Amino acid sequence: MKDVCPRERVVRLQSNALVTVLLLLLSFVLGLVSPDSSALPPGSGDYATGPGGGEALRWDPEALRGKTIVIDPGHGGSNPGTRGVGPKPEKDNVLAVAWDLKGMLEHAGAKVVMTRNGDYLPGSPEVDQLEARVRLANMNRADAFVSIHNDWNKNSSLTGTTTYFYSPDGYRLGIALQKGVTGELRSRDLGVRWANYYVLKNTVMPAALVELGFLSNKQEALLLTTRSYQTKAATGIYDGLVEYFSNRR
Ligand SMILES: [Zn+2]
Repeated sequence: MKDVCPRERVVRLQSNALVTVLLLLLSFVLGLVSPDSSALPPGSGDYATGPGGGEALRWDPEALRGKTIVIDPGHGGSNPGTRGVGPKPEKDNVLAVAWDLKGMLEHAGAKVVMTRNGDYLPGSPEVDQLEARVRLANMNRADAFVSIHNDWNKNSSLTGTTTYFYSPDGYRLGIALQKGVTGELRSRDLGVRWANYYVLKNTVMPAALVELGFLSNKQEALLLTTRSYQTKAATGIYDGLVEYFSNRR
C-alpha cells in the first residue's frame, strides 16, 4: 500500500465537511476555541466577560436580582472619620458613594439596606454604632455587606485602593470589589487584605470593607470629594458585586 504523506492527510480531512464540523465541535468541548463572549452587551442577560475582561468569568447583572445588599457608609454625625487634607471629611464622601451605589443596585433588582442614609451615627446610647450596623445586616439576612471608607496614612504621598475581608467568602467578595473599584477609578491597587474589623468579623454574610483612597494625599483627597469620582467608585463596587454574584457557586 502506498503511504499517504501527513500533509495530504490533513488536506483530505479538511475537504470533508462532516469531519470539519466534528473537529470544531470537539475543539469547543475541549475548550480550544471559545466563543467571543466579550462581544455580548453587558446587561443583556447573557454572560459576557466583566470589566477588565480576559478571564473566563461570568458577567450577568441579572445575578443581583432579588439579592439583599447592605451598604455601610462608614462613620457619620459626630464621628467624621478621616478629615485629611481634602475639602470634606470621610463621612460625607462615603455617603455620596453609597447613594450612587444604592441607585445602581436597585436598578438591577437588588434590595438595598443602608446602615445610614444621612449624616448621623447608627445605633443608640445603648447600642454601639458598629454593633448597630452588624445587627441590621444580620437581621435582614443580607447576601452581602459592603462597607465604604476613605483611608489615611502619615505618608502623604501614598495613594490607592485597599479592600479588607475576614472570612473566606468575604475574600472572594473582596477580590471582586477591589478589581471593580481599581478598574473604574484607575487607582493604585494596594491589594486585598485580611483584617479583624468588627463589622467584617461579626456579620454572618460575605462582607468586605473598601478603602477607596487616601484623604492624606492632596490629589486623591480632591478626587474623592468630586461627584464624578464618587460615581465611578460606586460603579466599581457595583461591577464587583455583579462579578461576585455572577460567579458564585
Ligand atoms: Zn473610615
